[in-house]
Parts: sequence; C-alpha cells; structure tokens
Amino acid sequence: MSSCIFCKIAQGEIPSEVVYETDKVIAFKDLHPVAPIHVLIIPKVHLADLNDLATSAQRAELMEEILQATQALCKLYGTSSFNLISNCGEEAGQSVFHLHFHFISGVDLTKKIAAAAQA
Ligand code: AMP
Ligand code: ZN
Repeated sequence: MSSCIFCKIAQGEIPSEVVYETDKVIAFKDLHPVAPIHVLIIPKVHLADLNDLATSAQRAELMEEILQATQALCKLYGTSSFNLISNCGEEAGQSVFHLHFHFISGVDLTKKIAAAAQA
C-alpha cells in the first residue's frame, strides 16, 4: 500500500533500525519506546490489523513467523521475558494501520498499566 509508513519501512524506502528480517517479516526498533526493549514485528505484506488475517492457513503461517521472530529477539537481547501486543482497531489504541506486534521487554507492563489505571 503506497501511503503506508510500515510498507515503506518494509521496502526500505524510509529508514528504520532493523534488528531481524526474513522474506516474510521484518522487526525494527519503535521510534518512541515505552520500555528498554521495544521492537515492532510486522509482516512485509500489507494487512491492516489482526482482523485482516482471513484464513487459518494465513493465521498459522504468520504466527509461525512472528514466534520465530520473538525467539530470535530473545536470543539477540539475552532474555526470555517479553510482552507481545497487537492493538487491533482505533479504540484499542492502534495508530498505524499496518498489522504489527509490539515486542516489549525489560519492564513489568502489568504494574505500569495498574499504575496508569490508578492515576
Ligand atoms: P500502535 O499505536 O499500536 O498502532 O503502534 C504504532 C507504533 O508505531 C507506535 O509505538 C509508534 O511509536 C511506532 N512508530 C510510528 N512510526 C514509526 C517509525 N517510522 N519507525 C518506528 N516506529 C514507528
Ligand atoms: Zn502497509
């Protein structure tokens, strides 16, 4: 999709700090990290969000790729603890409408969310 910023990152048209790449997915550092480690894993093909995964085969293939990416990122960062989050829809906080998974590590997100809820 020509106007999509993550398609442009996937195609190398705009710069990003790539930390992992296969022919199907690419992972790069989030521009505004919320944790010491905050990487976005995206499929190279344009899909708007999780609801765009139409078939079981498509879901299985992508999740296999995503989980291989999380394993590689764990190895890269020397950890086995992380949050994997995909905001699906504007009301859920999605701001870029190209499917992506936030790989977040080095912070207890549950505590952060609880603190935010009390503030
Ligand atoms: P979401 O709100 O779930 O759609 O997440 C979008 C994420 O993309 C945010 O965490 C942004 O900081 C991140 N982001 C937006 N533009 C860029 C960019 N050019 N490079 C890296 N991360 C980006
Ligand atoms: Zn896109």
